[in-house]
Amino acid sequence: MKYLSTRGNAPAQTFSEILLGGLAPDGGLYLPETYPRFSAEELGALRAMDYRQLAFAVLSRLIDDIPAVDLKALIDTSYTTEAYSHGRDDSDFSQITPLRLLEDGVYILELSNGPTLAFKDMAMQLLGNLFEYALDKAGRDINILGATSGDTGSAAEYAMRGKKGVRVFMLSPVEGMTAFQQAQMYSLQDPNIHNIVVRGVFDDCQDIVKAVSNDLDYKHRNRIGAVNSINWARVAAQVIYYFKAWCAATTANDQAVDFSVPSGNFGNVCAGHIARMMGLPIGQLIVATNENDVLDEFFRTGVYRPRGAANTWHTSSPSMDISKASNFERFIYDLVGRDGATVRQLWSAVDQGEAFDLKSTGFFEKVPAFGFVSGSSSHANRLDTIRRVWAEHGVMIDPHTADGVKVGLEHRRAGVPLICLETALPAKFDGAIREALGREPERPHGLENIETLPRRYEVLDADVGQIRDFVSAHAND
Ligand SMILES: *Cc1c(COP(=O)(O)O)cnc(C)c1O
Repeated sequence: MKYLSTRGNAPAQTFSEILLGGLAPDGGLYLPETYPRFSAEELGALRAMDYRQLAFAVLSRLIDDIPAVDLKALIDTSYTTEAYSHGRDDSDFSQITPLRLLEDGVYILELSNGPTLAFKDMAMQLLGNLFEYALDKAGRDINILGATSGDTGSAAEYAMRGKKGVRVFMLSPVEGMTAFQQAQMYSLQDPNIHNIVVRGVFDDCQDIVKAVSNDLDYKHRNRIGAVNSINWARVAAQVIYYFKAWCAATTANDQAVDFSVPSGNFGNVCAGHIARMMGLPIGQLIVATNENDVLDEFFRTGVYRPRGAANTWHTSSPSMDISKASNFERFIYDLVGRDGATVRQLWSAVDQGEAFDLKSTGFFEKVPAFGFVSGSSSHANRLDTIRRVWAEHGVMIDPHTADGVKVGLEHRRAGVPLICLETALPAKFDGAIREALGREPERPHGLENIETLPRRYEVLDADVGQIRDFVSAHAND
C-alpha cells in the first residue's frame, strides 16, 4: 500500500514514511493509491469482532509496513475500556464507541468517552502510540508544537503524555477556553508536556506557531513537528468507528446507514467518505456546520469560498469555527477523478484566498454519487436541539453534537438508520448548557474536582522570540 499526494507531484510513500510528517512536498495531502474494499461477506465477518479486532481488520488494510503483531499491540494498548470510560453512567464502555438509541431509527454514536471528552481522542490516542513506536524504530525524537483553542491541544497532550521521544509544546490563549478545558490541560504534570499560556488570543498563538514553523533552520535544529488534522494516521483511525457503528446499527450486510457529522476541518467526515469508498454501506454523509458554513455552501452551490479571520464567527460550537477546511482537498481529489493537476489548479486559487466553482465544470454533478449532503445550524438551533433531546430522551448533548443532530434530522430518511456522531461531551461546554437547560452539565466520574488540581504552565508574551527560546531550552530535556 502506497500513498499518493492529492497534487500529483510527490513520490509515493509508505504509511510509516508519512506518519510523522504533514503535507506532501508538493503541498498536497496523502491518500491511499487505491481504496482497499471489503466484500459483503467480509463486512459480515466484522460483526462478531470487538473494537480492537475491528480496528486491526480495518487498519491492516491501510498499513502494511508495520508488522502485524506490532500493529495489534499498538491497537490493543490504545483502545482499552479503561481509556474510554469517561461518559455517561449507563453507557456500555466495553464497546469503546457505544451506539445509543435516541428514538426509532435515530442514534447517537458516542465518540467522546476518551480522556479529554471529545472525539479527537479516538484518533489521537492511537497516534501517540504510533509516534512512540516509529520514533523508537528510527532512533529519533520530536518536539510537537501546536496552538489550541481547546479540543485538539488537550487530546494531543493526553495522547503524548509520558511517551518516549515526544515532547509537546502547546500554546493556548490566556482567555477563551472554558474553565474545564483549562483545567484539563494545565493539570497535566508530565515532564514532556509543556503548556504555554500566551498573553493574547488564539490567532496570536496560531501566528506564532506559523512563524516558528516557517523558520526551516530552527525547525530542523529543534526537530519541530505537528499533529494537525491533516495527519493521515488520524484520518485512518477515524475510519474504524464508522465500521463499528454500521455493525451495531444493522443486521444485514447490504443494509445502508446515514451518518450526520458535526464538521469543521472535514477530518471526521473525510474518514466517513473513506469508509464508504472501502465498501461500507453508507447512504448519506451529512455534513453539519455551524454559522461558519463554508462546507455547507459548497455542498449546496458548488462554490468553495474559504473566508478570512475577519469573516470567521465565534460561535457556541467553537471547535467548528473554521472557514478553510484543511481536509477538504482529500475529497475533491476523489471528486475530480484523482487528477492531481486539477487539484493543483483549484488550490492555487484557494492558496491565494480565492474561491473555486465546480458548478460549471461537471464535477459538482458527481457529488450525490459520493453520498454527501449538508446543512447548517445557528446558536438558536443548537440550544433548541439540546433542549429537545434532553426533554424527549433524557440525554444531554453538547453544542457541536447538537449541530449534527439538527442537520441530521433534516435529512432523515424513512427506514434508514440515522447515526449522529457525538463529537464532545457537554461537560466541556458548560456555558451553552447553562443557557439551554438552566443547569450545570453532567460530569463524568473522576472529573468532579478537576478545577482544584495543581496546575503546571508557563505564561509568555505573544512574542515569537520568547516562545522560540522556551522551546529550544526544553527541546532536549
Ligand atoms: C474538532 C471538532 C469538530 C470538527 O471536526 P473536523 O474533523 O475538524 O471536521 C467537531 N466537534 C468537536 C467537539 C471537535 O472537537
